[in-house]
Amino acid sequence: MQDIKSIMEEAREQLKKVSTSEEAEELRVKMLGRKGKFTEMLRSMKDMSAEEKKQFGRETNQAKAEFQQMLAERKEAIVKKAKDTRLAAETIDVTEPGRPVHYGVKHPITQTIEEVVGIFEDMGYSVYESPDIDTTFNTFDGLNAPETHPARDVTDTFYLSEKVCLRPHTSSGEVRAEKELSLPYQIVLPGRCYRRDTPDATHSPTFNQIEMMVIGEGITMADLKGSLDYMAKKLFGPETRTKFRPHHFPFTEPSAEMDVSCFKCGGKGCSVCKGSGWIEILGCGMTHPHVHQVAGIDTEKYTGFAVGMGVERIAMLKYGIDDIRLLYENDMRFIEQFK
Ligand SMILES: [Zn+2]
Repeated sequence: MQDIKSIMEEAREQLKKVSTSEEAEELRVKMLGRKGKFTEMLRSMKDMSAEEKKQFGRETNQAKAEFQQMLAERKEAIVKKAKDTRLAAETIDVTEPGRPVHYGVKHPITQTIEEVVGIFEDMGYSVYESPDIDTTFNTFDGLNAPETHPARDVTDTFYLSEKVCLRPHTSSGEVRAEKELSLPYQIVLPGRCYRRDTPDATHSPTFNQIEMMVIGEGITMADLKGSLDYMAKKLFGPETRTKFRPHHFPFTEPSAEMDVSCFKCGGKGCSVCKGSGWIEILGCGMTHPHVHQVAGIDTEKYTGFAVGMGVERIAMLKYGIDDIRLLYENDMRFIEQFK
């Protein structure tokens, strides 16, 4: 009986020192394990008389149960304390000011493409896209470019094979559209283009163009001028005037370049318009019958026009950017100015 008392005292003392689940388990093994104190006690009964065994066994089992109860309570307390500590550490201070969220901005090139495409969509155009890699037929022959046209030269265009190249202009998509779409149609075609230019302030080997193309019955130069004048006023402001100068492209006849009145000085003359009051914006013209004939379009019945404009040039003019390379460097300090 004395042994039971001292074992219980020892157990209580040790239990006080237990502060982790691992220590609790150690103590459990020490007391209740195969070689534990209580186990040894029960084993020592074998030499006792039947009466002694009965009493001793009962007392030991009671003490054992008491210890198990104390140990379980201790374990529970340890778990609760650990949980409380963790919750306290994870408490959120709802009064603390939030961290500012960093919003991205669309690249000025993307903004310009979306603005121009949006203006044409408002006029009823649909977006048509064609691949960056195209055949030399779609790129040159189908567009009525003679065999000797300088753009065909390997020093100007990136060739992947003799008959396949990276498109040097979105006009390649015109030939695809003519073969694919049913008439009449009006499309706007944005896309990336590639030319073997050495990068400088105004040239880049990769750049973006937007092509516009309309085919229908009774389409005239007046429709072309009306659509582009509307676009210019939307893009550069309602005061903007437009001017068409005769030009030459193989795939349009007649061809023209369009100037807009300088949006900076209103036409008086400044550094943006180099004193002329006008800024060249794009090339355009009535689609050459040869281009329509390639796709088997009845040129007696259908006419149309095509327009090509450089996105970088528009973006640089609109935002006052003086070096095209800034558009490709992905310097966030630069891009974030165009919110
Ligand atoms: Zn000006």
